[in-house]
Amino acid sequence: MKSEFDICIIGAGMAGATIAAYLAPKGIKIALIDQCFKEKMRIVGELLQPGAVQSFEQMGLGSLLDDFDAQPVEGYSLLQGEEKITIPYPENFKGMGLHNGRFLQRIRASALQNESVTQIHGKALQLLENEQDEIIGVSYRESLSSEIKAIYAPLTITSDGFFSNFREHLSNNEKTVTSYFIGLILKNCEMPFPKHGHVFLSGPTPFICYPISSFEVRLLIDFPGGQLPRKVALQAHLDANVTPYIPECMRSSYEQALREDGFKVMPNHYMAAKPIIRKGAVMLGDALNMRHPLTGGGLTAVFSDIQILSTHLLAMPNFNNADLIHEKIEAYYRDRQYANANLNILANALYGVMSNDLLKTAVFKYLKCGGANAQESIAILAGLNKNHYSLIKQFFSVALFGAYDTVRESIMNIPKAIKILSDAFTIIKPLAKNELW
Ligand SMILES: Cc1cc2nc3c(=O)[nH]c(=O)nc-3n(C[C@H](O)[C@H](O)[C@H](O)COP(=O)(O)OP(=O)(O)OC[C@H]3O[C@@H](n4cnc5c(N)ncnc54)[C@H](O)[C@@H]3O)c2cc1C
Repeated sequence: MKSEFDICIIGAGMAGATIAAYLAPKGIKIALIDQCFKEKMRIVGELLQPGAVQSFEQMGLGSLLDDFDAQPVEGYSLLQGEEKITIPYPENFKGMGLHNGRFLQRIRASALQNESVTQIHGKALQLLENEQDEIIGVSYRESLSSEIKAIYAPLTITSDGFFSNFREHLSNNEKTVTSYFIGLILKNCEMPFPKHGHVFLSGPTPFICYPISSFEVRLLIDFPGGQLPRKVALQAHLDANVTPYIPECMRSSYEQALREDGFKVMPNHYMAAKPIIRKGAVMLGDALNMRHPLTGGGLTAVFSDIQILSTHLLAMPNFNNADLIHEKIEAYYRDRQYANANLNILANALYGVMSNDLLKTAVFKYLKCGGANAQESIAILAGLNKNHYSLIKQFFSVALFGAYDTVRESIMNIPKAIKILSDAFTIIKPLAKNELW
């Protein structure tokens, strides 16, 4: 089927809009379809780790981070009881805190200003296939007319986010909900450490915060379990497990936010990437792969995937050879697995650690020692260190440190030490199996 497009992108979210903004100036003809191009208020994708900022800048899109009050983030702080530690990001690297909706509108505008991009308002319905089972485009319901139409392209990118409609054709993934995040915006809030991401460990489950504008702080509070909590359960959780641990300097903004603006709740998914490689289509973003947002690693993975996929696609002379496109898709899936394994494992392993009292204390004390271990750990969190050996080494160093520390307190703690080691192993084993093999 002859097509006027090289690529049809389903979903102009963070993944779809960014790859369009990157590829369009290179002359690639793109159909960009989304059911809603308006700015949304979401609680997702508001902290860009340095790895995400680096990829975004390497794609030549860095200026889109300017002029909308996005805030530089210089490192992380951990708070447990009265104790506080800060760990700077590696030198010369910074993260960014921002309003996701505003950022996305800027990326979309950058993509849509190119003549080679055609904006399509509509809901994608079904992937279209030819007689050889190759994907040749997508049908959609046009927003304005409600007519069912079709777009044809040699490559369809499905980047329709975490509730993707197209997974069943393109992947074997099983998604699970690990927990929920309750999101609040605290206005005129003073954080214990300005320009830092914060992880609060004093309560039974973690909560995190970071700046998203010069006067707003995003607070994300974990609610464990796989079932959408009722409002009363959320309120009880806040009252018992969060409010008592909010630092004094943040308390009045926190209370005001609860009183005036309320909160939003989002599920936190885990889903390893298990693509079914089919001719003519490729998955990108949350449609393909998700991890717990505790570490803010989602956009680091998304932007890194865009770089990898684009590098392969741009190595082709054109989009006329379906076999060559297929080779490039295979290469992308292979390369992205290596690039993202650390982000995926760390996010869910750290969530497991933060929900385990013994390991939580171990990690806090371990990082408090500072030095090379803290630096290597923060570089993994930042998405800058992709070496799998570093991650496994740091993870088991924490467990061994915790076990040793508890036995040092008393020889009677040997069973506790064994529990630390076995819990650590239980947390990391399924993640490493999913992500590294
Ligand atoms: C609570 C929470 C907090 C998070 N915080 C962070 C963070 O701080 N830092 C970070 O890096 N990551 C974070 N993440 C992860 C990050 O937000 C995601 O990885 C990222 O937004 C994924 O982008 P995407 O383009 O795949 O999906 P989305 O951004 O969700 O975009 C999907 C797009 O597809 C469109 N669409 C869907 N279905 C159709 C259809 N049928 N037809 C047409 N269009 C369609 C939607 O309208 C949307 O525009 C967080 C995730 C959660 C759940």
